[in-house]
Amino acid sequence: MYFDHHVHPEHGPYHPGTYPLSWIEAYLAVGRERGVAGIGLVEHGYRFLEAAGLLPTPWAEARCRYPLEAYTRLCDEVRTALGVAVGLEMDYVPGREDAIRAYLSRYRWDFVLGSVHWLGDFGLDVAEMRDRYAERPLLEIWREYYRTQVAMVATGLFDVVTHPDLPKIFGGERPPEDELLPLYRSLVEALADTRVALELNTSGLRRPVREMYPTPALLALAARAGVPLVLASDAHEPENVGYAFDAAAELARRAGFREAVGFRDGERVALPL
Ligand code: ZN
Ligand code: FE
Ligand code: FE
Ligand code: ZN
Repeated sequence: MYFDHHVHPEHGPYHPGTYPLSWIEAYLAVGRERGVAGIGLVEHGYRFLEAAGLLPTPWAEARCRYPLEAYTRLCDEVRTALGVAVGLEMDYVPGREDAIRAYLSRYRWDFVLGSVHWLGDFGLDVAEMRDRYAERPLLEIWREYYRTQVAMVATGLFDVVTHPDLPKIFGGERPPEDELLPLYRSLVEALADTRVALELNTSGLRRPVREMYPTPALLALAARAGVPLVLASDAHEPENVGYAFDAAAELARRAGFREAVGFRDGERVALPL
C-alpha cells in the first residue's frame, strides 16, 4: 500500500469556489486500483488571491485568482468525508519567509510541500522559458537551485522537498555527476538535520527527461542518511494518481529505503515499501 502525497485538483471541473466532491472521489478510485491507500491533496500556493506578491513574477501574479477559502472549505470536507490529507505546494522564495509563514498560517494544513520552481523570474519548469537555461553556465543554475533548496529546508516551514532535481526536466545537458554530487550531499545533510522528507516524484516520467525525480544517486545518499521518503505522482488529473508507484517503490528499495511516509493529522505515518 502507498500514500500519494502530491495530488493536484486544479484541472477539475470546478469554478472558483466550487469543487465537486466527485472530482476528488475520482482520484481516490484510480488510487485504489494502484494500491494507493491515502492521498494528500495540494493546490499550488500561488493560485489564491491571498498569495499576491509572494512570488514576485508576472507569471505567478497573473494566476492568483481564487479566494483561499474556496479551497480550505474543500479541505474541511474531504478531510472528514474521505480521509484525505490536505496541504499546499508552496513555492519558496529566499527572503520572503515571514510572508510565506503568514500565508501558511491561514489554515491548519496536514502537510506543506516546499518547492523551488523559480530562481528569480526564471521558471525552471516553464516551457516558454526553456531558453534561459542557456543564458548562464548550467552548473551555476544547478548550484543556485540547490542553495535555494537548502535554505528552504532550513526555514522549518515545509514538510517535504518536492522534485529535488527539477532543472533536468527538459532533458538535454546536465552538469557532470562529480559536480552534482556535492550539491546532492548539501541537500541530504540539510534534510537529515531537520527531518524534512524527500520526495520521489514520478511526474518526471511524463516530462521530456523521462525519469523520476530525484536521480538514483541522490536517492541513495538520502537513504543512507536516514532521510524520510514520500512517494508522489504530482498528478493534475485522476488518471495519474499512483502513476508508476510500483517502479518507484522498486527504485526506492534499491536505493536502500525500507519505508515511505505520509501525513495524517499532523503526524507522520510510515508504510513499508
Ligand atoms: Zn500544477
Ligand atoms: Fe512542483
Ligand atoms: Fe505539483
Ligand atoms: Zn508540483
